[in-house]
Amino acid sequence: MFERLGLRKAIDLLFHFPRSYQEVSECKSILELQEGLLATVVGLVVDIDSRFGFDGKSSVGVLLAVEGGGYVRCAWYNQPFRREAYAIGQRLLARGVVKSTGVAYQMRHPEITPLDPEEPAPAARPRPIYPLTEGLTQRVLSSAIEAALPLAANIEEALPLDVRKNAAVLLKTGSDTLLPIQDALQQIHQPVDMLQVNEARLRFIFQEFFVLQLALAKQRYLYQQQRPAPSIQASALIDARIVKRFPFVLTEDQRKVIEEVKADMARTIPMNRLLQGDVGTGKTAVAQYAMLSVVANAHQAVLMAPTEILARQHVRKLQEQLAGSRVEIALLVHSMPAPDKRELLQRIAIGTVDIVVGTQALLSEQVEFSKLGVVVIDEQHRFGVEQRATLRTSRTAPHYLVMTATPIPRTLALTLFGDLDVSTLKQRPPGQSAVQTYVLDSKMIDRWWNFVRQQVQAGRQAYVVAPRVESDDEKDIRGAIQWWEELNAGPLGGLRVELLHGRLESEEKQAVLERFAQGSIDVLVASTVIEVGIDVPNASVMTIADADRFGLAQLHQLRGRVGRGKHAGFVGLIPTTSSSRAESQSDSPAQTVDQPLEKVQWLEQFAKIQDGFELAEIDLRRRGPGEIIGTRQTGLPEFRIADICKDEAVLIIARNLAGQLIAADPELKNPDHARLLRQVVAKHGKLMPIGDVG
Ligand code: ADP
Ligand code: MG
Repeated sequence: MFERLGLRKAIDLLFHFPRSYQEVSECKSILELQEGLLATVVGLVVDIDSRFGFDGKSSVGVLLAVEGGGYVRCAWYNQPFRREAYAIGQRLLARGVVKSTGVAYQMRHPEITPLDPEEPAPAARPRPIYPLTEGLTQRVLSSAIEAALPLAANIEEALPLDVRKNAAVLLKTGSDTLLPIQDALQQIHQPVDMLQVNEARLRFIFQEFFVLQLALAKQRYLYQQQRPAPSIQASALIDARIVKRFPFVLTEDQRKVIEEVKADMARTIPMNRLLQGDVGTGKTAVAQYAMLSVVANAHQAVLMAPTEILARQHVRKLQEQLAGSRVEIALLVHSMPAPDKRELLQRIAIGTVDIVVGTQALLSEQVEFSKLGVVVIDEQHRFGVEQRATLRTSRTAPHYLVMTATPIPRTLALTLFGDLDVSTLKQRPPGQSAVQTYVLDSKMIDRWWNFVRQQVQAGRQAYVVAPRVESDDEKDIRGAIQWWEELNAGPLGGLRVELLHGRLESEEKQAVLERFAQGSIDVLVASTVIEVGIDVPNASVMTIADADRFGLAQLHQLRGRVGRGKHAGFVGLIPTTSSSRAESQSDSPAQTVDQPLEKVQWLEQFAKIQDGFELAEIDLRRRGPGEIIGTRQTGLPEFRIADICKDEAVLIIARNLAGQLIAADPELKNPDHARLLRQVVAKHGKLMPIGDVG
C-alpha cells in the first residue's frame, strides 16, 4: 500500500506532505461544543459503565467531568477492553466528533491521551490529513511518518542561506529567512499551529518553483552560449520597405513588440521570445516583420504552423503581400510529392529560398538551411513543449519567436516558457468589430438559422462547427457530416453549404478553404480544423454545436474566426441536448465536470466574457494546466505542493532569484550549489529542449 503511494524508503515518508489539516479547537467548557464538529476536551473520569445488548454486542462508556464545566460521555462499541483501560479519577484528553443526545454530549470512539494531574492541557494542534490509498488509514500512515521524522535531521539543506534570506524578504514573510529543511519537515508534519504549517509549506512551494526556474534559466544560458545568432541590422530604409508592404498601419502595440523583437535580433545572443496575444490582435504582422527584416539581412526565415491549412494560409497571405518583390517563399508540408520535396530541400540548403513556411514536417525531417536567421512558431500551444523546434543549422543559431493565441495565463507561461522573454499584444487593430455570443435554446434555434440566412443574403459568410466529424454510434453527438446533410436539406437549403473536416485529403481541404476565402461558399460546416488561425474577414456568423464539449480557450479560438473584418460578428452556442446528455459517454472534460444546468450557465458565462486572458484563467482553474495547452503530454512539470494558480507570487519571486543565481553561477559549479544542481537534474533533467540544444 505504501508503494502505491510512491513510498519506498523511510525518507520518502518525510516528503509525503499532508493534503490538508484539521484544525482542532481547544475547548474549555461544554458550552463551546458543537454537534458534528471535532473537538478536544480535558476532564476527570467520574464514572465508567458497560452494557451488553441482547445481540451480544458490548458498549463501554466513560463519563468525563470536563475542566471548565459540564460532562461528556465517551462511548465505544465492541471494545470491551476499554472497561479496564481507564480508572475513576484519571485525567484524560479526549478528541472526537461531538454528538448531542439531548441530555448530554457524547463522543463515539474518541482518541484518548492520558494526562498527569498537573500537566497543562496541551494546546490544540492542527492535525495533518495525508493523501491515502485504499486500505491505508490516516492513523497508520501518520504513525509511520512520525516514526520517520527523526530522519529529518540527516537531510541536507539544498537551498543556500542567501537564497532563503532573499526569498524571505521578497515574500514578506516577516522572518529573516525561509525555514531550514529540517524545521520545515518537522513543521509540515507536526505543526503547533497553522502559522507553522504555512511557514513550512511556503518553503517547499518556493523550493519547487525555484528548482524548476533554475533548470529553465540554466538551459537558457547554455542555449545562449552555445552558438551566436546572426545579428540582424535594422535601418530606417529596411523599416520603410517592410512597412509599405502591410495593407494597414501597424498598431502601437504591434510597433512596441516589433521594437522588442528588433532589439533582440540585433544581438548575437539568440532571441527566445514568446509573443502572446488574444485572437485577432494581429500577431501575424509581427511575424512577417521579423521574417522580412531577416530576409533584408540576407538570411532565411522559417514560419511553422500547427496545421497544413494554416501553413497554406500564411503562404497565400505572404505571396499577396510580397507580390512583385524578389522574396522567395516556399511551402514545405508532408503531403508534397517526394521529388518536389527533395528539390525544395536542396534549394533551402543552398539558400535560394528566403522564407520557408511549413508544418511539423520541418521539425521531424532533416532540413538543412543555408543561413537561417529566424524561426517563427505560430500557435505554439499546439505543438507540445518538448518539440519546440529542433532545427538544424550550421554555424549560427537562429532567433526564435514563439507565438500563441490561446492566451496562456501568466503563471503557466512562466512555468512552461520560463526560459522565454514574453511580449504581449493587448490592443486590437482598429476596424475589428465586437462579437456577440448567444446561448441558443431549442425555442430560439429556428430563428437563429433564419438569422444566419439573412447574414448570407446580406453578403456575409457563416461557419457551423461540430466537435466531431461524424456522429458516434450512440448518435448522441451530431458530427459535421450530419449537420451538413441536415442544414442542406432543411434550415439552410438553397445556400451554398459545404463541408470541411480533418479526414478530407489535404488538397481537398485546401480547395474548400480557398473557395470559402474567395466567397464562393456561403456556409462552411466544419470540424475543429478551422479552430486555429483561419482568417476570412467576410465571415460574420458562427454556430457551434454541442458547444459545451469544448474548453473555454477552444471556444474563444473558434469565436475569434468571426468579427475579424468590418462586419460585426455573431456566435450562437448550441448546448448538448438533454436527452443525448444522459446517454453520452464522452471523455471530454467539459462533459464530465458539469451537470446539465451548470453547462448552460457555463456557456452563458463564456458569452459574457470577451477577454481571452480572463477565459484562460478560468479554464486553468477549472480544467487544470494540462487541458489548457491541449494535451496532457506537455512536459508540464508536476508539482508536489506548489499550485501554479494559487502561488503566483511565489513563482515570480522564485523566477527572479533563479535568474540571479544563474547569472552568478551559470552552471551551478559552486560547491554551495551542488545539491541544487542535483535537484535540478533529478527533477528536470529531461526538460524540454530549446532550439537546437540537446
Ligand atoms: P492573430 O493575432 O489572431 O494571429 P491576425 O494576425 O490573423 O491575428 O490578425 C487579425 C486580423 O487583423 C487580420 O485580418 C489582419 O489582417 C488584421 N490586422 C492585423 N493588424 C492590423 C492593423 N494594424 N490594422 C488593421 N488590421 C490589422
Ligand atoms: Mg494567428
